[in-house]
Amino acid sequence: MSLSGKTAFITGAGSGIGRAACKILARDGANIIAADINAKNAKETVDLIDKQETKNISIALDVSESASVKSALVKVLETYSKPPSIIVNCAGITRDNFLLNLSEENFQQVVDVNLKGTFLVIQTFCKAMVEHQVPKGTVINVGSIVGKNGNIGQSNYAASKAGVEVMTKTAAKELGREGIRVNAILPGFVTTPMTDLVPDKLKEVFASKIPLSRFGTPEEIAEVISFLASDKSSYISGASIDVNGGMVTC
Ligand code: NAP
Repeated sequence: MSLSGKTAFITGAGSGIGRAACKILARDGANIIAADINAKNAKETVDLIDKQETKNISIALDVSESASVKSALVKVLETYSKPPSIIVNCAGITRDNFLLNLSEENFQQVVDVNLKGTFLVIQTFCKAMVEHQVPKGTVINVGSIVGKNGNIGQSNYAASKAGVEVMTKTAAKELGREGIRVNAILPGFVTTPMTDLVPDKLKEVFASKIPLSRFGTPEEIAEVISFLASDKSSYISGASIDVNGGMVTC
């Protein structure tokens, strides 16, 4: 199996794409650390994969709080004695509103979770990877097509995801010398609790712009995460990979 013997730390693991990533990476042989702000959902994810022959744990984590990220690392080191070599930054939120109506609080919340959270996890876990000389580190950040094109009602979310994409490229430049690859996946529209919030009429408009005429599944994103986590992608770093059914803009 492509990820046998490796350990993966996945944020946002209690739902949607993060949960699917836990399942697919476990299928491919990785030990899974399922981290989410919702401890119950993270535990449920681990229960779903516990039949695999891997060592899996769940952790309650708020990616926007550095103390929470640091204590997650402590728990990981207690359990596995070394940092994971695979980091998947999947935790994310939306707080949609037209720019002229968007509150400062909702702008800040989205940036804190999506962008600052990705920064805190990369910094904390990659520092540990370097200190412990973990070989073949790989970080996969989940951005969005919206970070390239913008989207009505999502100025906060679009800006946070554009930040994730360019932080990915910067981290790849800085961490390459440490043997750590850093890549981003830019999903289009994927059926998860996050997109359940989108009104049906708007979903139809989005689907009509997708050449494959449908939303993606969380598993279709997770398969690409597994590829970027594995040695099959050993010469890919600093890349942003579109996984969007051929959608050019939203
Ligand atoms: P989801 O089902 O809502 O999953 C996101 C998970 O992150 C939830 O379990 C959520 O917990 C958790 N979370 C929220 N704030 C957190 C925090 N501060 N610390 C740790 N965990 C936190 O959404 P999804 O669709 O799977 O999204 C996963 C990622 O893909 C996100 O980064 C999203 O922006 C990105 N994405 C999604 C789509 C799409 O169409 N679905 C498209 C492009 C990109 P709660 O449920 O308790 O908030």
